[in-house]
Amino acid sequence: MIYVSPYKTDDPQIVYNQLSKEDGVIVFGTGNCGAIAQLALKEANINVIALSDNNMHRWGTKIDGVEVIPPEKIKSDYGKLPVLIAVDLNFPYIRKQLNGLGITNVFDCDFVFSKLDIDLKKCEQVTWSETRFKQKIDLYMYSVLAHKNKDKTLRVDSIDLMLTEKCSLKCKDCANLMQLYTKPIDQDFDVLIKSIDKFLNTVDHCREIRLLGGEPMMYKKVDLVTEHILKFKNFDQLKINTNGTIIPNEKKIKVFQDERVFFDISNYGKISRNVEGLVKLLEEKNIAHNAARVTEWQDVGKIVKTNRTEQLNKEIFGNCCINRGITLLHGKLYLCPFSANATNLKAIKYADEEILNIDMYSKEELIKKIHKLYFETEFLEACKSCNGRDHNVKRVEAALQASEPIKYEVVA
Ligand code: SF4
Ligand code: SF4
Repeated sequence: MIYVSPYKTDDPQIVYNQLSKEDGVIVFGTGNCGAIAQLALKEANINVIALSDNNMHRWGTKIDGVEVIPPEKIKSDYGKLPVLIAVDLNFPYIRKQLNGLGITNVFDCDFVFSKLDIDLKKCEQVTWSETRFKQKIDLYMYSVLAHKNKDKTLRVDSIDLMLTEKCSLKCKDCANLMQLYTKPIDQDFDVLIKSIDKFLNTVDHCREIRLLGGEPMMYKKVDLVTEHILKFKNFDQLKINTNGTIIPNEKKIKVFQDERVFFDISNYGKISRNVEGLVKLLEEKNIAHNAARVTEWQDVGKIVKTNRTEQLNKEIFGNCCINRGITLLHGKLYLCPFSANATNLKAIKYADEEILNIDMYSKEELIKKIHKLYFETEFLEACKSCNGRDHNVKRVEAALQASEPIKYEVVA
């Protein structure tokens, strides 16, 4: 497949020329991004001499004949060879981590991903569909650019708008903690619209706006929210994350017929009872979508008591896949959905500095507050009560249903 990034980068050839003079490079990251980088570099005749990852289950294994080593061994085994960070969105933390290990010859992979012509079938490690591939790499490229220009513009990857605490399913391990709500409520429509306006009038750009819950299709005014958001120009995609249980009516579908709307459907098998009907309708109406069969998750849907050191909390946060997952819930901005819901459930300490009551600030104040929260946070109060979301976290079967709300311990 051919991929050309819509986001500008410096001339990739300059970096390729520089790397071709080295004996080899180390690719940090063995997930989808790492596999794509490894393949693309091989095709560009750059010698990938070793791989590395924070996922300890990969250490000592080989991918395409190349060994995966722990980060601590990079410097001792390979001295000053360049390290290329090829991970989804944790690149700022990995860079800091490598610097802490005395490794400074570090590159992001935007030069690799800016233009790709690769045969995905050659790469078993890549599990993304073509649609997912494009979305993920677009987001990565956007995010690298946002970080490079963070002192000039406030560009954020995404915002999760939690329309409702209600869901048509009650998954016992829901990462957004819906299974803990005993009396779930909707977001107030007027507060929500006011908060959306304030947020989108504050940031320069947001790559993805996501409508979530719970189940966003249970929010009666989901079409009005969509219609309102589509009036803004400073975002690229409006994603609707749904569990495939509810088919929207004709009136709503009309609103969703917009090139920036994308249905991201999690198919949990039989319990996603309307997934086929939904996909058929979206195809008929020419609405972009992806329905992925989901069979397992990370074990993160619980409030836990931990006693980690500060350093460990920084690692948990730094490696978390949603550590810049800005979330709006009941007029407040949080840095991740776990923090939003655990706070909303009053299960953890209310952390004033990490929760932005969006209505309280002027635009200038809010720019500063979001910038600090988004680019400077080292870990959240919520991380102390969270299992973390990285590859070392235990996997559990997805979407096992609870018969009633799950009791939780208040760790505040
Ligand atoms: S994970 Fe399950 S409970 Fe949570 S929002 Fe999705 S469908 Fe609802
Ligand atoms: S609380 Fe921390 S570790 Fe947990 S999901 Fe949020 S950012 Fe990640």
